[in-house]
Amino acid sequence: MPVPAAYDGDDFYCDVALRDIAQLSVVHDSENVLAYHHTRPYWPVHIVVVPKAHVPSLTDLSGADETLLRDLFDVVQKVAADVERDRGAAAVLTNLGRYQDSKHLHVHVSSGQPLR
Ligand SMILES: [Zn+2]
Repeated sequence: MPVPAAYDGDDFYCDVALRDIAQLSVVHDSENVLAYHHTRPYWPVHIVVVPKAHVPSLTDLSGADETLLRDLFDVVQKVAADVERDRGAAAVLTNLGRYQDSKHLHVHVSSGQPLR
């Protein structure tokens, strides 16, 4: 992957991922939402769903309109349903505050035990 291993900014999605979608293993790509397999997965199945527009976090939705949020969670639901069907279990997670490394709303859809 061409993703800079040393990226130390606070918005991986605007700065790296959304600038070069062709380099990602894309699961879903539509007008408002991108979902792709995490470049450094933490679980055996680890898909990230992000709004293409900058939204800071789930608890700071400035800049997010209702259409974007509905589109985002439609994709989260679809991706999670696929993982649940394929693996028998899935988790949906979004981090906030100190837990949130990248200050751009992103939702993890995962399955399996942590890899590290
Ligand atoms: Zn952003």
